[in-house]
Amino acid sequence: MKQIVVISGKGGTGKTSIVSALSSIGPKKVLADCDVDAADLHLILKPTIVEEHDFISGERPSIDLDICTQCGLCIDNCNFEAISDEFKILPEKCEGCGVCSFVCPAGAVTEEPRNCGKWFKSSTRFGTLIHAALGIGEENSGKLVTTVRNASTAAGEIEEAEIVIVDGSPGIGCPVIASLTNADLAVFVAEPTITALHDLKRVYKLTEHFKIPSMVIINKCGINANQENEIKVFCLEKEISIAGELPYDIGFTKAQIAGQSAVEYDPEGLGAKVEEIWKELEKKLMA
Ligand code: SF4
Ligand code: SF4
Repeated sequence: MKQIVVISGKGGTGKTSIVSALSSIGPKKVLADCDVDAADLHLILKPTIVEEHDFISGERPSIDLDICTQCGLCIDNCNFEAISDEFKILPEKCEGCGVCSFVCPAGAVTEEPRNCGKWFKSSTRFGTLIHAALGIGEENSGKLVTTVRNASTAAGEIEEAEIVIVDGSPGIGCPVIASLTNADLAVFVAEPTITALHDLKRVYKLTEHFKIPSMVIINKCGINANQENEIKVFCLEKEISIAGELPYDIGFTKAQIAGQSAVEYDPEGLGAKVEEIWKELEKKLMA
């Protein structure tokens, strides 16, 4: 089983449209949406949830006011100003560091597992999808991404899938590193803009560091020939193969509105182009 992780330096490059298009062709696969802060692959894949799991990460303290002597030690030692003058924990500020529990001389602070969101195993017309939703205001997205990645690998093995396709987290921080775990191939989606080239250079450093083979898909071609050229020059310098180029095409947006992948929406046009890209990715995976 091979794992392809599709990434981009930021949102809005068309990454999810490309993932959904790739999902609708090729061999038996499992899909994973690692954009846990703003998941949107489900809008096209329309999953039916088969399993729902709580995402537990860290601890959430609470103060028993019947035991609390109001000594104020917890307030003095909390670096995040997460305890009110009435000795109540402010969940939106609490980082779960455990200091309040440690310093409390009365044993008034108890800690409970912190429910930070949900993750799901769903069925879709293209295969099993593992996806997640981080709770509002929660920040452990790297850990939730790892949960999604582990669950997608496990589902792929159980189902004897040939491919796991991962819609990676945007950016270059902890969540995207978690997305890239176990990747056999990283696919950068780059649009021809100055910021996209900058982002491409940054995410390339990550894959280079982790020694993950990579390819580039240039999306929205035709909007800036100079930037397109700059991306190609960078790829040439770094010996990154270009899997394909996709035009700036309103068909992607129309497909999304219709709840379809671009391959389903426009099989002869965009669909044929995505098929060509898929062949290039397969060649690289088999190399
Ligand atoms: S766990 Fe840490 S951040 Fe949260 S209230 Fe206690 S001391 Fe403050
Ligand atoms: S340290 Fe313990 S006893 Fe003191 S105010 Fe905080 S919760 Fe109450």
